[in-house]
Amino acid sequence: MADNADRAAVTIQQSLEAVLARRAALATQATNSECDDCGYPIPAARRQAAPWATTCIECQGIRELRGRHVR
Ligand SMILES: [Zn+2]
Repeated sequence: MADNADRAAVTIQQSLEAVLARRAALATQATNSECDDCGYPIPAARRQAAPWATTCIECQGIRELRGRHVR
């Protein structure tokens, strides 16, 4: 019984570490705090809503408009 509990604890610990490692990797990818296009800081609210965003809302809108024109 004790063995099983120990093994379960180790498994939980390992999955927790895997999750935390993945989160840390995501966090480093989302450190873009400045817009790629205009260089102004991206508002924290936008970074929270869209952590993958590399541009501010204005530049994102411009990119989308450009994309539509290209198509
Ligand atoms: Zn911008």
